Amino acid sequence: MILLDGRQTSAKIKQEIAEVVSKMKQQNNRPPHLAAVLVGSDGASMTYVGAKVKACELVGFKSTLIKLPQSTTEEILLEQIEALNSNAEIDGFIVQLPLPKHIDENKILMAIDPNKDVDGFHPVNVGRLTLDLPTFISATPFGIMELLERYAIPTSGKHVVVIGRSHIVGRPMSILMSQKRKAGNATVTIAHSRTKDLKSLTQQADIVIAALGIPEFLTSDMVKDNAVIIDVGITRVPDDAKKKGYRIVGDVDFKSVSKKASHITPVPGGVGPMTIAMLLKNTLMAREKF
Ligand code: NAD
Repeated sequence: MILLDGRQTSAKIKQEIAEVVSKMKQQNNRPPHLAAVLVGSDGASMTYVGAKVKACELVGFKSTLIKLPQSTTEEILLEQIEALNSNAEIDGFIVQLPLPKHIDENKILMAIDPNKDVDGFHPVNVGRLTLDLPTFISATPFGIMELLERYAIPTSGKHVVVIGRSHIVGRPMSILMSQKRKAGNATVTIAHSRTKDLKSLTQQADIVIAALGIPEFLTSDMVKDNAVIIDVGITRVPDDAKKKGYRIVGDVDFKSVSKKASHITPVPGGVGPMTIAMLLKNTLMAREKF
C-alpha cells in the first residue's frame, strides 16, 4: 500500500510556487495578493482561513484578511465584494463558507468577479470547467487531480466512483475525471444519498473518491483489492483524549481499507493540505492572468 502523502506533495507545490514568486520579486514585479473574507467567528472557518493566510506568507504572497462580524448584512458584504472586485492590487479573493443564515450564499458568490474567483465557485468558472476551458478549478478537486498526477496513478479507462455530488467536491470531481486530460479519461459513476446498492458500485471501482461527510463510511467490504482510495471527508469527532476535545476523521475506515488498497490518502494529511496548495496555485494563475 502506498500512502498518497498530501503534506509532502503540497509542500513541493508550495516550494515551486515560492520559486516563481521569488523570480517575480527579483524582476521588481508585484507578488500575488490573495484576500479572504471571514464573516463571524465559526471555529472551523477561522482555522481554515488562518491556514490559508499562513500559506500565503510561506510562499511570498501578500495576503489580506477581512474579518466581519456575524451581524454583517448582505448589503455590507456585497459592498465589500465590490471593493475587492475593483481593487487592482488584489488578484484573487475568497469568501469563507458557510455564511450566516441571513446572507444568501448564491447572491454573494455571483457577485465575485469571475477573474478573481480563485475558489472557482462562480457559474462562469464552473461553466468553463465543464467546457474544458482554462479556469480556476475549485481547490479540492484540483488538489485531488494533482495528487493523482504526481503519483502517476493510471486513470485512463478506469472506473471511478465518486461518492457525493456537492458543487464544490463531488460534481466537479466527476467532470474532471471524465475529461480528456492527465488524470482523466476515466469512466465515472457519481453516487449520492439516493443511490441504491452503493456497495455493488464501489466494489467495481478502480478508484473511489469518498466525499460525503460521514465518518468511516467506506469499509473494506465495499472496495476491491488494489483499489485507489481518495478520502475527502473531514469530520470533527468528539475525543476527550485530544487537547482540542476532538479528532479529525475521514469518510474511509482507514484501518481496514488501507489493507486492501494499492494507494490511499490519509486523514489528516491527504486531500486537506492539497486544497490549500491549489488555492495558492489559482491565485498565482490570477496574478499571471493565466
Ligand atoms: P455536502 O454535504 O455538500 O455533500 C455531501 C454529499 O454526499 C451529497 O451530495 C449527498 O448526496 C452525499 N451523500 C450523503 N449521504 C450519502 C450516502 N449515505 N451515500 C451516498 N452519498 C451520500 O459535503 P461536501 O461539501 O461535498 O463535503 C463532503 C466532505 O468533504 C465533508 O466531510 C467535508 O468536510 C469534506 N471536505 C473536505 C475538503 C478538504 O479540503 N479535504 C474540502 C471540502 C469538503
